[in-house]
Amino acid sequence: MTNKNKFWCLFISILLSNMLFLCNFYSFAEEKMNHILIINSQNMSIPYTHDVVRGIYSNLRGKNNIIHVENMDIQIKPDHKYFDTLYNLYKYKFKNYNFDIIIATDEDAYYFFEKYGDNLFENSPILFCGINEPSILNKIQSNKRFYVVEQSIDIEKTLNLANKIHPNNTIFIPVDPKLLSSHYMKLLNNQKKYYKDKGVDILIYYESNINKVLDKMNTLKPDLTLITLTEFKTDNNDNYYMNNLIQFASNKKNIPSYSFWSSMISTGIIGGSLCDAYDLGNTSGRFALKIMKNPKYDVHKVSNKNKYMFDYNQLTKFNIPINNLPLGSKIKNKPSNFYSISKDMIYAFAVYIILLLILVIFILLVNINKIKKLQKILKSSTEDYKNLIEFLPFGILVHDKGNILFANSAFLKLFRYKDLDSIRNTSLYNYIHKDFHEKIKERLEDQQKNIYSPYIEELGITSDGELIDIEVCAYPSSDDKNYTVAVVNDLIEKRKAEKLKNKILEEEKRLKQALEYDKLKTEFFSNLSHELKTPLNLIFSITQLIESNLKNDQLVCTSSNTSHHINILKQNCYRMLRLVNNLIDITKLDCGYFNIELQNHNIVSLVENITLSVSEYIKNKQISLIFDTNVEEKIMAVDPNAIERIILNLLSNAIKFTDSGDSIIVDLLIEEEYVTISIKDTGIGIPKDKLKIIFDRFRQVDKSLTRNREGSGIGLSLVKSLIDMHNGSIDVKSDYGYGSEFIIKLPVTTVDNINKVDSVYVKDKYIEKINIEFSDIYSI
Ligand code: ADP
Repeated sequence: MTNKNKFWCLFISILLSNMLFLCNFYSFAEEKMNHILIINSQNMSIPYTHDVVRGIYSNLRGKNNIIHVENMDIQIKPDHKYFDTLYNLYKYKFKNYNFDIIIATDEDAYYFFEKYGDNLFENSPILFCGINEPSILNKIQSNKRFYVVEQSIDIEKTLNLANKIHPNNTIFIPVDPKLLSSHYMKLLNNQKKYYKDKGVDILIYYESNINKVLDKMNTLKPDLTLITLTEFKTDNNDNYYMNNLIQFASNKKNIPSYSFWSSMISTGIIGGSLCDAYDLGNTSGRFALKIMKNPKYDVHKVSNKNKYMFDYNQLTKFNIPINNLPLGSKIKNKPSNFYSISKDMIYAFAVYIILLLILVIFILLVNINKIKKLQKILKSSTEDYKNLIEFLPFGILVHDKGNILFANSAFLKLFRYKDLDSIRNTSLYNYIHKDFHEKIKERLEDQQKNIYSPYIEELGITSDGELIDIEVCAYPSSDDKNYTVAVVNDLIEKRKAEKLKNKILEEEKRLKQALEYDKLKTEFFSNLSHELKTPLNLIFSITQLIESNLKNDQLVCTSSNTSHHINILKQNCYRMLRLVNNLIDITKLDCGYFNIELQNHNIVSLVENITLSVSEYIKNKQISLIFDTNVEEKIMAVDPNAIERIILNLLSNAIKFTDSGDSIIVDLLIEEEYVTISIKDTGIGIPKDKLKIIFDRFRQVDKSLTRNREGSGIGLSLVKSLIDMHNGSIDVKSDYGYGSEFIIKLPVTTVDNINKVDSVYVKDKYIEKINIEFSDIYSI
């Protein structure tokens, strides 16, 4: 609920409660209060009086009635003086009261009002209750202010009952003659006569003193039935109440007792046709309400009927069967069971159940309405989801531990099935290549543990047996662990895209390489022109110098001068020759015309002789050139010219990139299958990032035209091609700034029918070749 709604709810409830309060207040203010006076002849400790007042209260309590209760306690002082005193007391006490009704219980109260009524509470109607004396009843009815609820004691019925239950007993009826009206005395005597004729002995014992009554009772035979009708007096003139006599008879003497008032139940009587004091009070209360409502109410007398009532405990004690009792009898103190629950309670319970049912039906109706609405929403959202799943571009598969329950259109299309029925209730494994079954098993176990299975690539099998690349992820359904929802992606398009991407990348790479190669070529040609121009310039300058000297007849031709000029001319011719040779070889290699001629040679002496020649050549350069080998001879198939080109090229580079004081080591390691030639220098070294490219054609570490060392960048490429032709390999290691090592590995093979040519060191054999290969190195 929003704050705004909460505020309105609070506001409306406060408003309603205020309105209700105001309504109550005004009705309370407007309604007249009734003053009621209850005057009891006796006091409330007497069960009869107490029950009558309770009955009155049950109808009059509340309803704007203010009830005053006065107990006359007439038995304490039953004389005129006491009546006078009470009169004066009431007169004084209720001077300012105008009672709407006075309810007087029992006959003594009537006598009081008969005497003082004209001067006391003159304007109030008086309702007498529990009156049974016919003479009084007549008087009451003749007075317009007086009303009466008649309650006669039923001597005839109770005597009949007592006789019926205990037919052999003498019926003992002790009576205080002062307290029993002549009317009832007459009735009693009539009954006595009636039963005497029937042979039943009824003993009516008129006595006020209880002790004498008890003495009398002791003299009688034990087969006795007691019927109590009045109270008695003790020797001290104190009241001896009826209930005491009954208790004494029942408990001490085991004499069954009957009486006429329901208030005696539980004191020891078996029962009787009883006047129910509470009932009497209740009838009186209702009657009083009618009189108050209509002060001119013209019905002045109502009767309250007696009821057969019994005490369950006494019935049990005297072994009296319940079916011996008159029909409709009420049994008190019965141990409660379901059937003993009062009718009222059953009615109340029934009403409660009905109300509850109505409430439940109402709630159900409201909820059914809500459920219908929710069902409608659910149905439409289910439809939406269904459509969504059907139109999704990737396959959806629902399965229960591998048993297929549902597949969407995309899945069926991918696996080439015409409808769901073709695959429903079949195993998931049927559609996946067996190489993936183990993995699927693991993933199904994960799903049972509510673990999501991420995307993996698998091979699917279509209806026509074709294998297709798919990608699958699966997750357990949120409400039931048994179901798994798998999402299946077709990888065919993905693969095509990947291939295309790779092709593009490759093309890009090739283009880049081509561009780079083109750039290299451009650089090479600029470098080549430089390489050609430098020796050409020198040759040209020397030629010009000689020409000028000749022109001016200044031919100062010293042998050292001429030799120097010839050296320069020669070296630059060698340089150009090397360049042209290299270019021709490269062109040959590219066209596939370059062939090597394999002959069986001693590789050790071949390399050693070249090294020795170079050593001779560079002896002024202060570079130490060392040759070492583990064996002295190893005959194998090589092209000696190619090996010479290789070693000379590597040595020329080693010399070119070393300074005086450095050293170069040529080391041969002869093994069974391979010969390893290492040419190691302590020169400038090669940066790490350039190590891979130096064997590529036109590659140089320093490509600037102002570089310190001359070169075309073809040499190592040519070396590598020549080694490749021997099925060998070349590798380079370098510590930049500290030197480089070129390692050649040649397989040991021999060629048939070609005789071994022994390589003998001839000092000048390599001079020409060295001159050409070393032509870049000017300082020599
Ligand atoms: P060039 O004719 O320019 O020397 P090469 O193909 O023989 O061409 O060598 C390529 C490059 O490799 C050289 O320019 C140089 O930068 C590097 N290089 C070759 N050998 C050595 C070495 N021993 N020490 C240092 N750098 C070297």
